[in-house]
Order: sequence, then C-alpha cells, then structure tokens
Amino acid sequence: MKKTNCRMCKSSNIQKFLDLGFSALADNFLTLKQLEESETFFPLTVNTCQNCGLCQLGYVVPPELMFNQDYPYDSSTTKTGRDHFTKMGIEICEKFELEQNSLIIDVGSNAGVLLDAFKSKKMRVLGIEPSSKLANIAIKKGIDSIIDFFSGKLIKKILNEYGKVSVITGTNVFAHIDDLDDFMKTADSLLVEDGLIVIEAPYLVNLLENLEYDTIYHEHLSYLSVKPMIKFCQKFDFEIFDIEEQSIHGGTLRYFIGRKNKRKITNNVSNYLELETKKEIYSRKRLENFANSVKHHRKILMELLHDLKKDGKKIVAISAPAKGNTLLNYCKIDSEILSYVTERNPLKIGTFTPGMHIPVYSDEKLLEDQPDYALILAWNFSDEIIKNNSNFQENGGKFIIPTPEPKIV
Ligand SMILES: [Zn+2]
Repeated sequence: MKKTNCRMCKSSNIQKFLDLGFSALADNFLTLKQLEESETFFPLTVNTCQNCGLCQLGYVVPPELMFNQDYPYDSSTTKTGRDHFTKMGIEICEKFELEQNSLIIDVGSNAGVLLDAFKSKKMRVLGIEPSSKLANIAIKKGIDSIIDFFSGKLIKKILNEYGKVSVITGTNVFAHIDDLDDFMKTADSLLVEDGLIVIEAPYLVNLLENLEYDTIYHEHLSYLSVKPMIKFCQKFDFEIFDIEEQSIHGGTLRYFIGRKNKRKITNNVSNYLELETKKEIYSRKRLENFANSVKHHRKILMELLHDLKKDGKKIVAISAPAKGNTLLNYCKIDSEILSYVTERNPLKIGTFTPGMHIPVYSDEKLLEDQPDYALILAWNFSDEIIKNNSNFQENGGKFIIPTPEPKIV
C-alpha cells in the first residue's frame, strides 16, 4: 500500500528522496521448492515529511507477510546482540530503581533475550511476539509470551491477566509499526502513572553519515530521528526525557519516554536536536546528496566484485542478515558473483536468499571450502565475525566489508 501521509504528524506534504527499486522481502528466505514459485517484489523508496522531518518508506507491505511464523530474525544469534540486551535489561532496572515484581513488557520480544535479563533482576515479564517460532523459544525458557502484534486489542487481556505495566520496551520494533498512534494509546492504557517506554531504533543521522542504506528494507517503515519523535510523543502527553546512544546496528538511539512533567529532561535531548541541525538531516539537499552517494557506492562495490571475478577469484558472503538482501537486490549481486552465503542462524541455513536466490550454508563451509573472499553482509558485527573466523584469514582468505565504502581486510 502506498503511504500518502506522514505516519507521525499526518501531513500529506511528503517527498521522495531515495529509490532503491523493487525488492523482495528481506527476511523471506526461500526453500528449494519455493524457488519454483513466483516471488513478489515491492517498491523500496524513502520519503521525508516536510512538516515534522520523519523519514519513512513510500510503500507499506502488510505486516502479516513479513512477521509470520517463518520470520527468521533471532536477536540471540550473535554474542554482541545477547550482551547488548542483557546489559540493557539490567541497566534499566538499576537506572530507575524498579521494584521487584514490576511488570515489564517487551514488544517484539523475539526469543526473549531482553526479558531474560529483566527476569534475572526479579521482574515479572511478558513478551509480545507475532512469530510463533520465536515466541515458543521464549515460552520454553519460561517467559510468558503472547503470540500477536502489540495493539489496542490486547489491552483488556493484559490488564486482566497481568495488571498495570511499569516498563514497555521495544528494540528494533518501533520503526516496524505502521500505526504508531495505536502503539502510544495502547502504552498509555497499560502503563502505571510514572511508567516508562524505552525504544531503541537505528538513528537517521548514522544512516545518512555512514551510508547505511542497506538498513532500509520493508520491515523498517520509519527512519527515526529526535525532532519528529519529540513532536509525536507530545500528541499523547508523553515526552522524551533522555536519550542514550548505543553502538549496536551501526548506531542506535535509546529513547526514554514518560508521561509529561514526570521527570527532568536531560541535556542529551537538546544536544541531539542540535546535532540534527548541524548535520542538516532535514534539508532536501542533504538527502539528495545521500541518494547520490548510494548510487556511487553501488558502482564502486560492483567494480570491485567484477574485478575480483575477472581475476578468477571465488567470492562468497558471510552472514545473511535482512539488510544484506537490500544490498544484494539493489546492487544485483547474484549467484554468478557470490557462490553462496554462510550463516549461523539455523532458521536460514539450507534456504536461498530472497530475490537473488543465493544458497545459504552453515558457517563451517567457509573453512571447508576456503574461497578467496568473503563479503561481510552483517557489517555491524564485522569484528565478531572476523574474530570467529580467524582460521579463514590465516589460510589466506580475505574479508570484504562493504559499508561505508568497500574495504578489504
Ligand atoms: Zn510528519
């Protein structure tokens, strides 16, 4: 469905600045049998709201097509991810001195890594997760989870069965939600008076500065920044009272949101607003420059890969995150260039990448086969991937980190 107005301020004054063509759904890894069926490609464009500054996709794919039982993202796959969420849970408990047995809800709770941390601090926890496969992993670990999308229709059930909520967390989920008004109204109904919403989402400034255009895919409906977020929260009598920067996913902001006038607003909030002005992220010219840099990036990455192929080198990719599929689809990197992709997530091994149909094997294949080059698609975990595969490098293999500019290490 084409999006004709701004998700946050509802203005219809929105303008397209980036067009990544048509792309298959980034997490729809295909089975061998599915390769024989038709695959749907959706437009992948980004607009900016001239009124509040929000960047959002021009086309919204129905969430049921993306976040279903086959959804393969498991935030516990990487140690970096596990450590991040464990630390986050503990930090929130300590920073706000939460009382034991406070109820914490994690929206998009995945396999329950963040809630595990809250549980270790003696909190009551509830996950909301539409993917039954992932929710069941959490349930098996003893984490109550409702297999559904977070929406107003769950309010009664949650209040009746669990009571009022102290903290609602959403990591990499707020930007996935089309109806954000419903999210805020639902949170408002569930939260205790001094309750908190803690949101983590990749930061638009980092996306633009570091050319992280591959983080643009259909699951990510909004590309968040502080200015539109502040205005949006005000609509619901909430306010952002603190912001912290986290290094995960190439630069993420953690927004602390509470009801108006309940807490002192830290300088961090105004500092980020100043940064956004300085970086001119709301100027049309800056966004057009970004779009030009994206085109240039595709050109130099493809020249590098084609040159290596001309020299007879065997290239594969290591790690198959959703973002990798934006890169592969936009640059048209297919199985003629990459022989295969390796991955640790068992839900992806044995499948084919969406759109480009490159086979996915387990990481062990990299050492057995010892190709010449391995393109790191999950560049945000480059350090961990290189460390885990030091044997590949010792045997003469080289890694290619694609972003912000292609680099061989
Ligand atoms: Zn707007």
